[in-house]
Amino acid sequence: MVLSSSSLIFVIDFDKTISTNDVVVELMELYGDPGWQEVEDKVETGEITLRECMEWELNSIEITKQDYVRSIGEILQLDIGAKSLFTWIGLNKYPVHIISDSLTGIIEYAMEVKKLGVGLDYKIDAHSIIWTKHETISHIHFSNEPCIHNCANCKVSKVIALKKLNPNSTFIYIGDGFTDILAAHEADRIYARKDMFLADKLVEANIAHHVFLNLYGVLNDLKAKYGEKYISDE
Ligand SMILES: [Mg+2]
Ligand SMILES: [Zn+2]
Repeated sequence: MVLSSSSLIFVIDFDKTISTNDVVVELMELYGDPGWQEVEDKVETGEITLRECMEWELNSIEITKQDYVRSIGEILQLDIGAKSLFTWIGLNKYPVHIISDSLTGIIEYAMEVKKLGVGLDYKIDAHSIIWTKHETISHIHFSNEPCIHNCANCKVSKVIALKKLNPNSTFIYIGDGFTDILAAHEADRIYARKDMFLADKLVEANIAHHVFLNLYGVLNDLKAKYGEKYISDE
């Protein structure tokens, strides 16, 4: 049996999906403007967009590059099943797109320093800190220009673009939050972290999905559905 090695494509959120905490929020508590919670309240009331909120929040962080890297190491907590899930995906040679409203450096830390990316074909799409030559923050480079939904990172348009490029692939989406809703709707199979915003909204909208407590739950379901490992005799 010959199956294309790219028959599944994974699109995965980072904060509270691959990690169990939100490093940007914790960095803001340590290095940001204490007014960030009030700014988030303005999103709830519709006074500002999510993108404007994220621009304000990310630009409020004052940190040196050295403290940033050290803080990520201290703060970042990975899901207990992340390494096993990525190992299985890597063995099967499925591509992974990590599309996130987090910062590229945080995700790179997980993939490189914490070695989640070993043997994995992955791409990171997130926001980036542009550093000055003195290693202080110059500005934040957002992963895309403003979109019609006012996303900071427009996950849905990126999933739609990937589907156009890979019309025969099955898209697997793994996420937890508000910014995953539109993108998850575009996927063929959705995994949503239990008791979080995405899972609640999918129940409300009556959209088929699988809930997970941790990423071992996703891995076990994938193994049951797609096999322990693809056997290809090309
Ligand atoms: Mg998330
Ligand atoms: Zn958008």
